[in-house]
Amino acid sequence: MDADLTLDVLGWDARWREVWAHHKAGDDHVPARVVLESQHIYRVHTGEAELLARVTGRVRHKLGSREAFPAVGDWIALRPAGQGEEMGRIVDVLPRRGRFVRKAAGTASEAQVVAANVDVVFLVSGLDHDFNVRRIERYLLAAHEGGAAPVVVLNKADLSRDIAQVRAELGPVAGRVPVELVSARSGQGIDALRAHIGLGRTAAFLGSSGVGKSTLINRLIGTEVQRTAEVRESDSKGRHTTTHRELVVLPGGGLLIDTPGMRELQLWDVTTGLDDAFEDITALSAGCRFRDCTHDTEPECAVKLAVAEGRLSADRHGNYLRLRKEVRSKPVEEADIKAAAERAREARVASKALKKLYASGLKGQG
Ligand code: GDP
Ligand code: ZN
Repeated sequence: MDADLTLDVLGWDARWREVWAHHKAGDDHVPARVVLESQHIYRVHTGEAELLARVTGRVRHKLGSREAFPAVGDWIALRPAGQGEEMGRIVDVLPRRGRFVRKAAGTASEAQVVAANVDVVFLVSGLDHDFNVRRIERYLLAAHEGGAAPVVVLNKADLSRDIAQVRAELGPVAGRVPVELVSARSGQGIDALRAHIGLGRTAAFLGSSGVGKSTLINRLIGTEVQRTAEVRESDSKGRHTTTHRELVVLPGGGLLIDTPGMRELQLWDVTTGLDDAFEDITALSAGCRFRDCTHDTEPECAVKLAVAEGRLSADRHGNYLRLRKEVRSKPVEEADIKAAAERAREARVASKALKKLYASGLKGQG
């Protein structure tokens, strides 16, 4: 990310300006976007420069829960570092348009935001052995819950034999959600993904390990990057150094968030997206006799009536019933176990990155 970006390139727009005006931040406060968070030290971009910032005690108290703390993708109010201060202060977090949350096992209060203000989320499957329409369905719920527009991405098109059958299976699940057939290997369909991101829009990826997210991200960024994005830039002596970031500006515009937490997002973190993903059923349910109708065995159910009269597909009704059951029972999937095994590795990468960030950031601001 170059030092002289404007805020608009980072995703700042008329709606954020309005929020900012209503927030009545102090005269010395400026808006900035979080590009990396590690152990309560933040790297934030103001559109003019990348700076280090922290949350001070008073603000920590005001924010309260862990979920309210700044996360990658958040817009914050920054009080830049004064004379003799190492870091700026984050004095506020602007209300999020959406966020992806990871819930620590067993404790609802320990929810952690792994990406904020994502506009579009690519739900990636591999067309090799990984393709599983049920999993895509649940990623759709996650997208809705995260407040991002979903795009179904079928990767490894170069390996696939029967696209027609895949599309037929997807039909009732995806509905009007766009489906893109791509190959990270050959480059097929990458421009179509780019078109979904667009200038100032923020994208993220969801999908099991091994489906090709890193390879796709490399394609979009256009250079070889690590699993968590690293960007080459010149230091004051003109040497190339590598800086770790989790929110990056793509060449040609648009932004990408790639955080370890987002990669680890478990499908059982999805709880309330069901109604959004099945808006048609939610709308119909207003006509059910019982307010808490489950559209399963109850009499005078408007949803079942719609199926009987051909206004709602029986497949879609069936999907809804099964999915609701699955979301409640929260089964463990093999991909989730794999992801958990990667956690230790990710933690090592993050702490190494923090040390690097500290060194380069302090130099930059001093
Ligand atoms: P991630 O775990 O989702 O980040 O997946 P990776 O990007 O690490 O990819 C997993 C494996 O799939 C790697 O060996 C990639 O080279 C391979 N791969 C990724 N995209 C494609 C593709 O479009 N076609 C083929 N044939 N292989 C791919
Ligand atoms: Zn009903």
